[in-house]
Amino acid sequence: MSIAENIHLFNQKLSGTDCKLVAVSKTKPNELLQEAYDAGQRILGENKVQELVDKSEALPKDIQWHMIGHLQRNKVKYIAPFISLIHSIDSPRLLKEVQKRALQNERTIDVLLQVFIAEEETKFGFDKEELTTFLSSDEFKEMKNIRVVGLMGMATNTPDQNQVRKEFASLKSLSDELKSEFNHLENVALSEISMGMSGDYQIAVEEGSTMVRVGSAIFGARNYSTT
Ligand SMILES: *Cc1c(COP(=O)(O)O)cnc(C)c1O
Repeated sequence: MSIAENIHLFNQKLSGTDCKLVAVSKTKPNELLQEAYDAGQRILGENKVQELVDKSEALPKDIQWHMIGHLQRNKVKYIAPFISLIHSIDSPRLLKEVQKRALQNERTIDVLLQVFIAEEETKFGFDKEELTTFLSSDEFKEMKNIRVVGLMGMATNTPDQNQVRKEFASLKSLSDELKSEFNHLENVALSEISMGMSGDYQIAVEEGSTMVRVGSAIFGARNYSTT
């Protein structure tokens, strides 16, 4: 199936839900991103800063770029002028840097806090206690140029669907808890839950996802081997 067909199919699947499609275009050439754009897709997700910046310069200006991959602090400055949403805030220090660069650019940057929900030890993110502590801190309240609009999580890479479902459900319930505790803060407006990828988006939507990050199911398998 073509990229356009895949996008239309996802739009159909998600219609009637509160879930938006983030088309994850990492490693794919600009021509394919343009195809997605021409099919109406406006939210594109990338996981490397340099690639994201290059693509944003080459492609239409009304694309909303989402940073979904691990972000190094020394690279925040390159995306701060234009990034639409950062999904992958995984430490207070990183958010502090985003605050600094947002201020310099005289804007507010929307972010998601990445939460550790998987069993694997390799995944980045806050755990529940760290989140509560951080959101309660004075340091956080001073961050007036960022807005925490939700949480992001990645489930364990396992064929066990019950495990995946449990992890997504835990992110949803954490979101509900944090909403009631912190949504009164000026820089908190929790409404988004970014969860679900090509292999597990259906479960994620059933468990309350508001953003699925779908790459290979739209653009085809990625090839990391030579380029
Ligand atoms: C690559 C990536 C995705 C998309 O993965 P697919 O399995 O190709 O849909 C989603 N989220 C993150 C954080 C990624 O790095």
